[in-house]
Amino acid sequence: MWYNTLMDHDQIQTVLHKVLGDDLKNDVSLRDYTTMRVGGASDFFYEAKVIDNLILALRACFEHDIPYIVLGSGSNVIFSDAGFPGLVVHNMTSNVSFIPEKSQVIVDSGTIYARLITEAASRGFGGIEYWFGLPGTIGGAVHNNAETWGHDMGEVVKQVTMMLPPADGKPERIEQVGIEWMQYRYRGSRLFGFWLCLCAYGLYARFR
Ligand SMILES: Cc1cc2nc3c(=O)[nH]c(=O)nc-3n(C[C@H](O)[C@H](O)[C@H](O)COP(=O)(O)OP(=O)(O)OC[C@H]3O[C@@H](n4cnc5c(N)ncnc54)[C@H](O)[C@@H]3O)c2cc1C
Repeated sequence: MWYNTLMDHDQIQTVLHKVLGDDLKNDVSLRDYTTMRVGGASDFFYEAKVIDNLILALRACFEHDIPYIVLGSGSNVIFSDAGFPGLVVHNMTSNVSFIPEKSQVIVDSGTIYARLITEAASRGFGGIEYWFGLPGTIGGAVHNNAETWGHDMGEVVKQVTMMLPPADGKPERIEQVGIEWMQYRYRGSRLFGFWLCLCAYGLYARFR
C-alpha cells in the first residue's frame, strides 16, 4: 500500500499502536461502516469513544503525516474497493450535556442526531426536530451543513470546538469557533475546502 509519508506499513503500525494500544485494528472492512455497504478495507481502524482519544488519534496522524479520515455514521461516504490507505477514526463519542438555564446543549460530535433530538424532547427542549429523519452524527451534520425542510445546521449551531491541523510551522490547535467561521452554504461548509480534514468534536446548540 502507498503512503503519503516516509513511513512504511509496519512503522505506522508501531507509531499508532504506541498511542492507541490494542484498540487499534487492522484490515477492517469499511463496507460494514457505511450506509452504502461498499468499499474495501482500512489498513488501520480505531474507534474513539471519548474526545481525548479522538484528539490522540488525530494528533498522531498530524505528527507523522499519516493519512486519516474521521468517520461518523458513514451515511455520506463511499469508500473505494481498494480500501483506505491509512487510519479510519470511527467517531463513537457520545457525551451530551444539557444546560437548561441557557437553553443550550453541548454535544460530542459522535452523537447520533436522532438520539439528541429524543433526549432533548424528553427534557422539553424543541427547535431541532426538523432533522429527525437525518441519518448520521452531529459531526457529519456540522461538516456537511445538513439541511432538511429548508432548515440547516447554521440555524441552531452556535459554536463548534475544532481541532485544527498544523499550519505555518505551528502544531495543531484546539479552538472554539463561531458559526460564521464555518462559512456555511447549501449542504457545505468551510471544512470541505480545508487542506486537511478538520475534526469538529463538539458543538453548542441553542434550542429555540
Ligand atoms: C437515506 C439518507 C437520507 C439523507 N437525508 C439527508 C437530508 O435530508 N439532508 C442532508 O443534509 N443530508 C442527508 N443525508 C446525508 C447524510 O445523512 C448527512 O450529510 C449526515 O449529516 C452525514 O453524517 P454522518 O455521521 O453519516 O457522516 P459521514 O458519512 O460519516 O461523514 C461525512 C463527511 O463528514 C466528515 N465528518 C464526519 N464527522 C466529522 C467530524 N466530527 N469532524 C469533521 N468532519 C467529519 C467525514 O470525514 C466525511 O467527509 C442523507 C443520507 C441518507 C443515507
